[in-house]
Amino acid sequence: MELQAVLHMNGGEGDTSYAKNSSYNVCLSLYLSLTHTHRVVLALAKVKPVLEQCIRELLRANLPNINNCIKVADLGCASGPNTLLTVRDIVQSIDKVGQEEKNELERPTIQIFLNDLFRNDFNSVFKLLPCFYRKLEKENGRKIGSCLISAMPGSFYGRLFPEESMHFLHSCYSFHWLSQVPSGLVIELGISANKGSIYSSKASRPPVQKAYLDQFTKDFTTFLRIHSKELFSRGRMLLTCICKVDEFDEPNPLDLLDMAINDLIVEGHLEEEKLASFNLPFFTPSAEEVKCIVEEEGSFEILYLETFKAHYDAGFSIDDDYPVRSHFQVYGDEHIKAEYVASLIRSVYEPILASHFGEAIMPDLFHRLAKHAAKVLHLGKGCYNNLIISLAKKPEKSDM
Ligand code: SAH
Repeated sequence: MELQAVLHMNGGEGDTSYAKNSSYNVCLSLYLSLTHTHRVVLALAKVKPVLEQCIRELLRANLPNINNCIKVADLGCASGPNTLLTVRDIVQSIDKVGQEEKNELERPTIQIFLNDLFRNDFNSVFKLLPCFYRKLEKENGRKIGSCLISAMPGSFYGRLFPEESMHFLHSCYSFHWLSQVPSGLVIELGISANKGSIYSSKASRPPVQKAYLDQFTKDFTTFLRIHSKELFSRGRMLLTCICKVDEFDEPNPLDLLDMAINDLIVEGHLEEEKLASFNLPFFTPSAEEVKCIVEEEGSFEILYLETFKAHYDAGFSIDDDYPVRSHFQVYGDEHIKAEYVASLIRSVYEPILASHFGEAIMPDLFHRLAKHAAKVLHLGKGCYNNLIISLAKKPEKSDM
């Protein structure tokens, strides 16, 4: 089956939707009244200062700017309020830096393109826009019409924008989705090279790790090459992804999925071949691998690179009045958090897993995953590693 047909986050606004569960997601009503007293979840909070610095350098670089309009895209925006939290941060950063720099020009118009695959639930984002625009006007003094949001559907492994037309490309937790299952993952004598797991973990056999790294190298190189063409010379790109580190031995969300699927096999609810014939098109690179690929591809200069840990229940706050919590059963803190973690993982991976393992088994699968998550949380574990990298498109020799 073609990957684009099955890869999308759970749409809509129901209990298993990405909109309702993604980690730094809070429901729109909470977002619209977001104040500093609400716990802002780690990923966004970590990315924001780097984003501001990136925008500061971008505005100082005096890129071509037709009619005082800054063109921005968020690649792999998903759906729901999260999408707009990112947009809000970008708009606020541009305005904050513009004020600091005491730009004599009027505030720029900001044109923002939301990109994701064709099956993404863009409509659920569009429905939030009138409210979002009003909020930007009330809280940031951004006149309606001075921030223009639209969609640019399609794969970010293909061309999305005209040549040299964009100032800033942002992408968070998206480019570790590969364009396809690694082509090098051959099935030898009827047995998958990646038996017993759905992805390339540290425990995977070397040929599996190589096949995944090769596919990632190919895809990420394409990503850099294509989007460097779309950016103005010295345009910026800010990328955040989950990454692996050598010394880290905590199970990540994909290990939890592996454990839950293996439980179903042991209990006789799923055939072993089902797992043997499935590989997730998802790769978590190391910081070194990302750095090497950027350097090898050559279009960008690395301005900043940082790794940080996040807890996979980071979006869950037991102290806050957190509306997402209300639909979890109350067993005690760990179990509530484990349910939250399972719902979050479900909102991301369910469509692609259901397309292979079947819809019917999904509730059982995520029920088992919640049990494993509770054990991991009980041991005080449950972190995953993240990478932020800020890039500037190198000027052409003729521009220097
Ligand atoms: N940026 C959002 C969403 C992350 S989920 C956030 O931070 O919450 C990853 C998103 O990347 C999904 O919505 C998925 O559909 C999208 N995605 C994966 N591969 C893609 C591709 N090739 N082109 C565009 N979007 C893609």
